[in-house]
Order: sequence, then structure tokens, then C-alpha cells
Amino acid sequence: MPLKAILPHTYTHLTGEDRRRESIFKEKNCLEAELRSRLRRKKSKISNMSKRGILERLAEGVVIGDGGFVFALEKRGYVKAGPWTPEATVEHPEAVRQLHREFLRAGSDVMQTFTFYASDDKLDNRGNEAASKHSGAKINQAACEIAREVANEGDALVAGGICQTPSYLSGKTKAEVQQEFRKQLDVFIKNDVDFMICEYFEHVEEAEWAVEVCKEMGKPIAANLCIGPEGDMHGISTGECAVRLAKCGADIVGVNCHFDPFVSLEAIRLMKEALDKEGLKPYLMCQPLAYHTPDCNKQGFIDLPEFPFALEPRLSTRFDMHKYARQAYDLGVRYIGGCCGFEPYHIRAVAEELAEERGCKPKGSEKHGVWGSELRMHTKPWVRARARRNYWESLNPASGRPYCASMSKPAAWGITQGHKHLTQHTEATTTDELSELYSFKS
Ligand SMILES: [Zn+2]
Repeated sequence: MPLKAILPHTYTHLTGEDRRRESIFKEKNCLEAELRSRLRRKKSKISNMSKRGILERLAEGVVIGDGGFVFALEKRGYVKAGPWTPEATVEHPEAVRQLHREFLRAGSDVMQTFTFYASDDKLDNRGNEAASKHSGAKINQAACEIAREVANEGDALVAGGICQTPSYLSGKTKAEVQQEFRKQLDVFIKNDVDFMICEYFEHVEEAEWAVEVCKEMGKPIAANLCIGPEGDMHGISTGECAVRLAKCGADIVGVNCHFDPFVSLEAIRLMKEALDKEGLKPYLMCQPLAYHTPDCNKQGFIDLPEFPFALEPRLSTRFDMHKYARQAYDLGVRYIGGCCGFEPYHIRAVAEELAEERGCKPKGSEKHGVWGSELRMHTKPWVRARARRNYWESLNPASGRPYCASMSKPAAWGITQGHKHLTQHTEATTTDELSELYSFKS
């Protein structure tokens, strides 16, 4: 075939025969593109159908979750701290996609849609323009597409995610709060997510409202509160919270965010105790912070003076995560992941610790010898001597900060649902409002 026929657009003077060929060429290309797209959709459908569901996976073994998207993407310049909303799904889809890919490579079995705080009332709270610029529906839709795309690059499932709303904290009615959830759920239903995660609820009541709405979808539901061993912000005990979540229909119950892995596991232990007493057997789930928080009160790391911009000295090492994964597994937790501060290498450590139980190592381990074995190749002999488990397992890392206090004093303002300073409003925070906060005493 002459070159002219293959690349007709490179010629300015086309003959009738050229035009005819060009039209056939375009038509053929369109048809091929459509066929490719149909094939992709069919393949995606088949691969979704052939994937085992979340409850089957939990029944057979351990499921590894992902890490914290808002914190990781804030540090990389794609999320604004303060609102912590996920409009990056529309503005910088490549950044969201890359983080999903890194978690998948690290061993995550679930791609949770980046829809944290993506309810309409949060997207236009206190001067946030995410709603007016993009709309909640568009942000949630983009999140679903990215999560599914990456999940299909491996054997991962897609979980739709919803969390607490400013409407609830402002004291709005159950119907109004559930309406906020429903708008997000419409998108998750359309995209046929594999299951739902209701997470980051400070009050079990709002989590129950969320689970109730998710039940209408007919998909498995995980429900996580962001609480520690002291219970929810209304004073309901941690054990009672778990019982209520299981009774309202959550298949998987646990905690996420706000506390470190070990404080979170203490909360799970209380949940398990109460569930056992009631004869309830939901799967247990834990997705804690990667920051050490032994000094937190009931409100968790939000109350720490270092929140959110100076938490780095508290960051867990990969070896802390080995310990966390083992303790979680031994406690009976079968959905083990992370939240704020958890980077892909933390998840890789969880996957490596549980490699025997899972029967495989993550792809990300290709460049990582467990317990420092790759250090055998190091030039310096004293570093080569660290190529062993015992060295890293017993290490007590220095904070690196002279005169650094070992604990902080939490803010402890004692403000929760219904307080005027928690009220949702679309206008930006004024200087007068801020001044009032500077001198606030609860
Ligand atoms: Zn978090």
C-alpha cells in the first residue's frame, strides 16, 4: 500500500480516490476503537464477575486494605488540608491513579474510591469551591472510574466510600443526612462497586444512618468508626458501638483513622469482647493512622497540637507495621489496612508480614528484601551487619529531636455534634469567627 493511502492527512492536495480511501480509513479506525472499547468493557465485566467477593475473601483468609489518600496527596500537592476534599479525582486524576497503583503493587486487595468527604455539604462548606467548580456527582464518578481501572490491573476489588457529614455535626435531621449519603450512593450504584465502606464516623448514630442507606444497595457493608477505646463522641462505649453496627446490618465492623495501630487494636479488642458476648460474628476491620498517638484523648489525633502539619516525628516505621499486622491477625482481624500517614511501603510491610497466610508476596517486594536482607549488598560492613530480622525488630528509633517531649497535651475543647462552631455553612470562615476561636475556652 502506498504511503499516501496510509497517511492521507499529510497531503494537502487530495484526489477523489484519496478522499474515498481516507473516509474508509477513518470509518475503519472508528469501528476498531468501538470494538476495542466494547472488548475492554466486556473484559472488565468478566474480570469483575470472576473475582471473588469481599465476604468470600474474608471467609477464606486475610484482606489487605489501602492507606490514607488525603494525607498522602496533600503532601504531594493535590489536596488542600482544611477541607480535605477529593476534587483531585477530577483535577489531577493521574495523581490519584498513581497512588492507587502504588497501593496495588504494595499488596492492597481493595481500591477504595477516593471519595472521602465527597458529600455535597462538605464540598461547599466554609468557602470550599469544589462543589461549584466540579459538582459532587462528577468527583464521585471520576473516583469510581479510576478505582475500577486500577483494580482491574490486578485482582483487587472496588469499595465505594462514604464518611461523616457536616450536616450531621450541624444537628440536621436523619432524613437530611441520609439524603447527603444517597447522592453519593447513586454514583456507586451506577458504577457497580463491589462493596461499601462507611468509615470515619465519630458518632455511631450517624454510622447507623449510613449503613441503613447502604443496605438498599444490596452489597456487603463495612462500617468503621474513628474512635479509640474511650468510645464515640456521644459517650457510647466502644463495645456497644460495635454491637450497634453489627445489629444494623454491617457485615464488617471496626475502626479507622484517629488513633495509632496499637491503640486502634485495643479498641477492636473491646469491640470483639462485646460482639462475642452478644453472639454476633461480623468480620473485624482495622485501618488506623500510621502515627504514634499514645497521648491522644477521645478525639484522637485531631486534638494533638501537631495536627495536621507537624506529625512526621510520630510516623511509624515499616517494622512497626509488621508488629501491627501480626497483632491484628492474632486478634482475629481479617481486614487489615491503614488510614492517614499510611504510605504504600507501610501496606507492603503488612503484606510481607502476612505473606505466609496469603500465600504470596506483593509485587512491590521485588525491590525489597524482608527484614533488610538486601543490605547484604551494601558497601559498608556495619550496614551489611543489619541484614537480619533481629536488628530491625528490636530497634528503638531515635526521634532525632533534642529536648523533644515524649507526649503532647491534646487541645481537648470538648466540642461535638450540635455545637455552633461545628455548623455547616457555605460562606468562608470570617476573620471575626477566627478571632473568636483564638480566645475560645470550652
Ligand atoms: Zn485517616
